[in-house]
Amino acid sequence: SHLVDRIAAGEVVERPASALKELIENSLDAGATSVSVRLSGGGTGLVEVTDDGLGMSPSEMALAIERHATSKLPDERIEEVASFGFRGEALPSIASVARFTLESRERGADGWRLEIDHGVKVGEGPAALPPGTRVRVEELFERVPARRKFLRSPRSEYAACLDIVRRLAMARPDVAFTLEHDGRRVLSVQPAPLPGRVAELLDPGLAENGLPIDLQRGEVSLGGVVSLPTFTRGAADQQFLFVNRRPVKDRLLVGALRAAYQDLIARDRSPIVALFLDLPGSEVDINVHPAKTEVRFADPQGVRGLIVGGLRSALDQAGH
Ligand code: ADP
Ligand code: MG
Repeated sequence: SHLVDRIAAGEVVERPASALKELIENSLDAGATSVSVRLSGGGTGLVEVTDDGLGMSPSEMALAIERHATSKLPDERIEEVASFGFRGEALPSIASVARFTLESRERGADGWRLEIDHGVKVGEGPAALPPGTRVRVEELFERVPARRKFLRSPRSEYAACLDIVRRLAMARPDVAFTLEHDGRRVLSVQPAPLPGRVAELLDPGLAENGLPIDLQRGEVSLGGVVSLPTFTRGAADQQFLFVNRRPVKDRLLVGALRAAYQDLIARDRSPIVALFLDLPGSEVDINVHPAKTEVRFADPQGVRGLIVGGLRSALDQAGH
């Protein structure tokens, strides 16, 4: 059964960055106001996430590492759980392919620690920590050669982890985030209004060279910050789209930005962009797989038109 677990885990957790994403999202779900991440070796040696959220009791901790156990559904009938796809899968999957330590403490209670070694409980006991939760993942995939060989260099695994932290930090400007890699502090942001948070994470120059976007078409709204045409980059890796506050990667954004900035910037340049699109659930299908987030719009042309038109008129008003 452990072998089955490990095969399934490969689908949920592809690489350190996908484990990290799951852990941070759990922290945010638990109402954290502060999330601290420590990594080593790009996450291949260590992924650790500490939050100041609600915490768990020892029995909730035991449940959390069981398959399909989630506290996020009205009841726990298995058909319903299954229909959520990966609900309740993340922690047991990660714990089955790593050395996994879960420490947690509810407010007004004592802390508890649970240690799992590749799916097998190897220890538990009292733990000293502030209220909240800390999850430590070590030796990810070290004993799963089929997975291990797909890992890239620590450098590119680190780049993927950094990308996750930045996206989630942009999506939640009300939460403090820190990131440490191989003992070095690489990111630290305090709660801040959105434009300031985006500038801090993407480029401090955006504070002066950024154009705030804030428009509404019926039930659809588009907000965020885009750079002025005079402030661009060579690479298109500084473009972030959030749909209903979830970070998504979508080709539609790339095309819309190219159209909006056409004739305003050189072909080999790209604007720096963080856009937040909010629309009714009926207009969008966000399929959240731990390894990737896919988004399908009911009216992609309408969404594209909104982005292109909205940016065009904002740039126009700013004199471009
Ligand atoms: P899901 O998030 O889909 O419920 P997970 O495997 O990610 O599944 O987590 C299982 C359960 O463990 C969650 O439903 C939640 O109750 C609990 N949990 C996980 N991480 C945290 C955390 N950081 N703080 C509090 N509870 C947590
Ligand atoms: Mg989760």
